[in-house]
Amino acid sequence: PTDLNALADEYLKIAYHGLKAKDKSFACELVTEFDPALEPLETVPQEIGRVLLNLYNNAFYAVAQRASQTHHADYQPTVWVSTSQVAGKEVVRVRDNGTGIPESVKSKIFQPFFTTKPTGEGTGLGLSLSYDIVTKGHGGTLLVESHQGEGTEFRIELPTYKG
Ligand code: ADP
Ligand code: MG
Repeated sequence: PTDLNALADEYLKIAYHGLKAKDKSFACELVTEFDPALEPLETVPQEIGRVLLNLYNNAFYAVAQRASQTHHADYQPTVWVSTSQVAGKEVVRVRDNGTGIPESVKSKIFQPFFTTKPTGEGTGLGLSLSYDIVTKGHGGTLLVESHQGEGTEFRIELPTYKG
């Protein structure tokens, strides 16, 4: 059984410190809200960890990109991570106030090898792999909501009962 709160928190730190190690100037506010009542869940933690890492790295990339494009000194790059439990499922939300995803791009982001990043910075495999892990591997759903110029939220929903 996996403690999703601990997993989400641990991988957030790994992702953030990994990026900071590569680029000292990278900074992003992290806001977490973990539901203390979350019950342990049957998962393959390394796989859900990979999903989280993908979502975190995408979020950090999006805020860094927006920071580099924006002229506003008051832009505060932020990534929010929260967990919650609702009727039959547990939910992890990863939200950022980065570039957002243009409407024309949204339908393609789960396709293998689709990337808008320059060569060397993205393989385009993160979300397609994440989608398979969550849906085929865990019977869950991976949802996205995004507004260009405002930010993006991915939601991992995992069923608490398998069957
Ligand atoms: P990669 O990160 O290698 O490009 P992904 O499968 O992880 O591949 O993501 C595919 C594309 O989806 C990205 O290139 C980007 O255009 C878009 N995307 C994913 N997450 C975000 C996000 N948080 N904000 C903005 N765009 C995103
Ligand atoms: Mg990615």
